[in-house]
Amino acid sequence: METHSVPELFGSLVFDDRQMRSRLSSKVYASLRKTIDEGSKLDPKVAESVAQAMKEWALEKGATHFTHWFQPLTGITAEKHDSFISPSPDGSVIMEFSGKELIQGEPDASSFPSGGLRATFEARGYTAWDPTSYAFIKDKTLCIPTAFCSYGGEALDKKTPLLRSMEALNKQALRILRLFGNTTAKNVKTSVGPEQEYFLITKEMYDQRPDLKYTGRTLYGSRPPKGQEMDDHYFGVIKPRVQAFMNDLNEELWKLGILAKTEHNEVAPAQHELAPIYSTTNIATDQNQLMMEIMQKVASRHGLVCLLHEKPFAGVNGSGKHNNWSMATDTGINLLSPGDTPYENAQFLLFLCAVIKAVDDYQDLLRLSVATAGNDHRLGANEAPPAIISVFLGDELSAILDAIEEDKPYSGTEKKIMKLGVDVLPAFPRDNTDRNRTSPFAFTGNKFEFRSLGSSNSIACANIMLNTVVAESLKIYADRLEGAEDFEKTLHEMIKKTIKDHKRILFNGNGYDDAWVKEATEVRGLCNYRTTPDCMPHILDEKNVKVLTGHGVFTEKEIESRCDIMLENYCKQVRIEANTMIDMAYRQVLPAVTAYADKLSETVAAKKAVTGSLACSYETTVISRLSVLADQIYERTGAVEKAIITLADAADVIAESAAIRDDLLPKMGELRAAVDEAETLVSSKEWPYPSYGDMLFSVR
Ligand code: ADP
Ligand code: MG
Repeated sequence: METHSVPELFGSLVFDDRQMRSRLSSKVYASLRKTIDEGSKLDPKVAESVAQAMKEWALEKGATHFTHWFQPLTGITAEKHDSFISPSPDGSVIMEFSGKELIQGEPDASSFPSGGLRATFEARGYTAWDPTSYAFIKDKTLCIPTAFCSYGGEALDKKTPLLRSMEALNKQALRILRLFGNTTAKNVKTSVGPEQEYFLITKEMYDQRPDLKYTGRTLYGSRPPKGQEMDDHYFGVIKPRVQAFMNDLNEELWKLGILAKTEHNEVAPAQHELAPIYSTTNIATDQNQLMMEIMQKVASRHGLVCLLHEKPFAGVNGSGKHNNWSMATDTGINLLSPGDTPYENAQFLLFLCAVIKAVDDYQDLLRLSVATAGNDHRLGANEAPPAIISVFLGDELSAILDAIEEDKPYSGTEKKIMKLGVDVLPAFPRDNTDRNRTSPFAFTGNKFEFRSLGSSNSIACANIMLNTVVAESLKIYADRLEGAEDFEKTLHEMIKKTIKDHKRILFNGNGYDDAWVKEATEVRGLCNYRTTPDCMPHILDEKNVKVLTGHGVFTEKEIESRCDIMLENYCKQVRIEANTMIDMAYRQVLPAVTAYADKLSETVAAKKAVTGSLACSYETTVISRLSVLADQIYERTGAVEKAIITLADAADVIAESAAIRDDLLPKMGELRAAVDEAETLVSSKEWPYPSYGDMLFSVR
């Protein structure tokens, strides 16, 4: 590290509030602040002044270019760099940047997926500055966080609907707060702290694996003798090379104003986690995208590769992202914090119930918000968390809700019947609420932790759905309470009814248990969508379209196009995997298997020449097994090829994704099994790829 102290470093590449305050006139600053805090319209004159200040700051920091930085539906971020250079009549150049360039851009966006929203004659979408997320400098480029829309105004990105969903929640939550007599809060924003898991392996190993390079995960690979059985990696001592990476990463993230805080080893060997301190949802979303990018960049400086795929190694714990989510007022009240007074408690219970109701009513939307080909290897398989969405509250809080539902004394310390708005909730220790690691959606004291996100997912999708469905519960509550004659009585009844109607979604037990799957699906009637093709089409279900359009988060056309794009992404991803498997099988695996069998045959011939007998039981046994396996690999590769060709018959993308799930993926699994067995028989020197053991234990 250079000599800079952390506070000096922190945010040094961000045009943050400190910069705005010191570089803008107080009038311009106040106007911009109003736009940021209250969403008021941005005055073009203000934009002009901000652009000038931003440009000067960026030039001082050595930037030469600017870009509208946005999040198209491909899942990554996009940028198109323009330089500040503008020719001067005397032949020199000046560095220019206007208010118009700040607030709006027009990338030629015809090759971003739009799901049919953008006809080719109007291929250019436009980008619009999101002033609530600070501009920053990356690679000498001023990056301006922006939304990306078509000329018809349809969202082509993830930021636009995310901002709309935050606004929907803000509106409904404020209605509730006013009913509770809160007249001071100006807005309610959702906050998120995403914990990010990842693997690190050496670049040297990575470069030898076409599957990692093309698809992010290993498509072949037999299990190592040592996996994660010993649990000796979790929170274990961080290896020096990893520590050097983490130090460097922290420094880069701090410069970008990202509050990287905790870092530790995860369950699997070579797996780690990084958690930032939470921030407002759209900022957390931008920063998580940025964080994933920087992680990969910093890793390569250390001769490492950072794998963000959900399941880089079969049979080894996969990587997810925990989306810690809450709602808070601008006055600093966390609405999911129980508080100390009866009044605060009642308000807390209402917001808590709003979440419970929302998760139960829209399990499918939450499930599909995290669905990708990669994440199917976690959620659909026997891994944490399961594909079934349920809510964990912990024993204490569950007992309180039970007592309220049945008007019976709460059997905690006080043993009395809870009267909302009058009685104080019994204190429940926060620690008690965070012990169940198998739950997909857990209350952890003052926030919910949605654990189903995949490690490479943008957190935008999950939060769009979460914000919207909670806004819907709050709307239903506000509608009833605003018309109620007896506020407290209605409140009490509503909470009771929510508990009664939605307690099927509450589950404190072990989410990995087979018995839970049976109970959840057969007794409780919860959804169990194991794969992306299973869940994604449900975004088109009437109730889902209604809630998403009702709160102005998506138009019907946007929903249809998103469903198409998500399924197309799924199909493309698996096709690339299948093609990579075929290529590896024909050009590397089969040649290696036959070459090794040939080598053994030579040994057999040599031994025979010396001893005159064929008594080479080791060599001949391996040769015959390899011969059988080579035939199998050859046949099964052919079957995968055929399955790909058959996909062309699918009527639409829904049918194609179903064919991939039912036909192509199982065939890929069969091919893999044969190759993995061959790997266990062929000399490691002859095998074309580093083994799981090599990769997982490569970084010292
Ligand atoms: P654990 O590993 O036990 O889940 P961590 O401390 O690693 O806990 O992560 C907790 C995450 O939750 C952090 O990113 C933290 O900033 C975030 N968090 C804490 N309070 C809130 C809140 N009110 N809203 C959103 N996220 C929060
Ligand atoms: Mg966590």
